[in-house]
Amino acid sequence: MPSSTSASAIAPGPCERPVTALAGIGPAMAERLARLEIRTVGDLLFHLPLRYEDRTRVLPIRRVAIGQSALIEGEIVAQAVVGRARPTLVCELADDSGRMAMRFFHFSPLQRRRLGVGTRVSVYGELRLGPQGPEMVHPEYRCGTEGTLQEPVLTPVYPSTEGLGTKALRRAVRAALACALPALTEYLPKAQCPPGPTLGEALRLLHGPPAGCDLGPARTMLAFEELVTHHAHLLTLRHTKGRATGPKCRVPGQLLARFLEALPFTPTNAQTTVMGEIRRDLESGRPMRRILQGDVGSGKTLVAAGAALIVIEAGFQVAIMAPTELLARQHMETFGAWLRPLGIEPFGLMRLRAGAETRRARARDCETRLVIGTQAMFQEGVDFERLGLVIIDEQHRFGVHERQALTAKGRAGARRAHLLAMSATPIPRTLAQSIYADLDLSVLDERPPGRAPVTTVALAETRRDDVVARVRAACLGGAKAYWVCPLIEEGEQDLKAAAALHAELARVLPGINVGLIHGRMKAVDKDRAMEDFARGPMQVLVATTVIEVGVDVPTASLLVIENAERLGLAQLHQLRGRIGRGGLPGHCVLLYKPPLGDMARARIACLRETDDGFVIARRDLELRGAGEVFGVRQTGLPGFRVADLIRDEALLPAVAKAAAALAQGAPAALLGLRRRWLRERHDLGSV
Ligand code: ADP
Ligand code: MG
Repeated sequence: MPSSTSASAIAPGPCERPVTALAGIGPAMAERLARLEIRTVGDLLFHLPLRYEDRTRVLPIRRVAIGQSALIEGEIVAQAVVGRARPTLVCELADDSGRMAMRFFHFSPLQRRRLGVGTRVSVYGELRLGPQGPEMVHPEYRCGTEGTLQEPVLTPVYPSTEGLGTKALRRAVRAALACALPALTEYLPKAQCPPGPTLGEALRLLHGPPAGCDLGPARTMLAFEELVTHHAHLLTLRHTKGRATGPKCRVPGQLLARFLEALPFTPTNAQTTVMGEIRRDLESGRPMRRILQGDVGSGKTLVAAGAALIVIEAGFQVAIMAPTELLARQHMETFGAWLRPLGIEPFGLMRLRAGAETRRARARDCETRLVIGTQAMFQEGVDFERLGLVIIDEQHRFGVHERQALTAKGRAGARRAHLLAMSATPIPRTLAQSIYADLDLSVLDERPPGRAPVTTVALAETRRDDVVARVRAACLGGAKAYWVCPLIEEGEQDLKAAAALHAELARVLPGINVGLIHGRMKAVDKDRAMEDFARGPMQVLVATTVIEVGVDVPTASLLVIENAERLGLAQLHQLRGRIGRGGLPGHCVLLYKPPLGDMARARIACLRETDDGFVIARRDLELRGAGEVFGVRQTGLPGFRVADLIRDEALLPAVAKAAAALAQGAPAALLGLRRRWLRERHDLGSV
């Protein structure tokens, strides 16, 4: 990076100040914000709402549907404390149109006095059907002289974290808007941007839009700036790459040949082609920078093993990084079984705690030829003696930063380790080329043969008994089944749900070995569960979505997904990719809570029609339509906060143009944008 772009080139404005510069934010709050990666006032500006609540209109009680959240105003007409063991405060509220109750499981004597009969209240909450009719449980409210909860614009709901209340977060963002928005730098010339609001206008709108306002153009402006930043940044990286040298791996390829010979199957044509591309890179003397794309189950691991063997034969070390410990341990198994006969024993590096020093030393030692681990191996200062190749599995789970930090490890003077990133993200080639501007692309566009198709059915959860019967029959026939209980918020509640489901299934499936795995379990317990399921006696594995990425148990042929209506299409596709891996025909049962909404119905129909990840991603976007602004990022691409490649595909030509101009002619602006979008705290240009 030229020195003119050093951090000092941009004078710090209000956006660069720490959050503690804002009134009302002290060190404790700052610490909580930091957990959301929010450190500066600018970060707060770019902390975007997940969704909005509509408190702009007061609705008559009668017009609010069960399940709808609404603002209601009325008078308390009755109050009672019911239940002796667990007293509950119930206040009956009436407006001109009808009545509803407010229910409080926890309340203070003061609260009870203030909510006395005759008091006027303004209430916001979700209407549910309670034992005595419509009610809101623990709604937000103001009473008497406190005024109303009514707001002039939609109320943003921000992604939050433990100990950080929605209201506090809202206040913080509001303070940031007041202080920094007027001074916000518009780095991109208006003529290069899509038509619509400026960045500043877009932010103001997104943090508090009028009801019924179309947020599309505002979102597009943010997505555009984000994409331009990534693209320009990658262009500068590619520039530096041209000058580096990589470990030269020109070898006879004996290890690879022996490995392929011992495999119980032959590689697909796609696998062979891609291994050829990789081999040419490895021999070239330039550092390989390659992304391998292939849908779930296309056999990326085999290609990774092939690449590793070339590099190992040339006398270098190989490091494989997986996004979860579960997946890293699975790779330990797979690579162990494949490579042990060749005298190569993988070394696992997960979380370093006890004995960290010796483990680190062992990984570093060039006698250790293959190291498999999670981010920990790079975060905790392991310096490899002769790192030749870094393989990142499921790379879309990592940000651009982590990828850079990783490859930086492989640097020795001008020499850099080779990089192979792997991803199942279903995006078309042109898009991939644009988004991984710093990488060369290989595609596995063919699945291994002999895969029996997976049938998918959707059943209302009232038919659970039928499903249990089916699982029982399948297990008695020797099959294995996943039963997925998705965690929506990883809260205690959800874990209880998984544990309860486990207990229930163990009860109704006597004589069948039912296990449990979830994200909060200790690593050893997770391992044991996975091992028991993959190769041991366990027949049914109750799992949270921890199994979503990469898990490969070819003998599992049944998959039941609870609350399927709550999951997005991409996630369902990934989950379904866990079965139909061996020769056994797979069956996927989507259990849902009736009544099924139109959206959920369409999602399920799509899954039944196709198992092509790309088609599914497109369909998902169509279904979500323009109505959803941010939502869960289904394509899950590296580090994008606003942009969605499938949705924003049409922007790409303009993005490429603006990025090229930025990368060539405006280094200071690019640095500012990198700070804004990549949240860079220091100059990463030298990586
Ligand atoms: P993914 O691309 O999702 O990472 P994996 O590498 O886990 O897929 O491969 C899925 C399964 O297919 C594994 O069990 C693997 O052993 C098997 N497999 C890979 N390549 C072939 C092949 N050429 N023929 C048959 N089975 C294969
Ligand atoms: Mg995989």
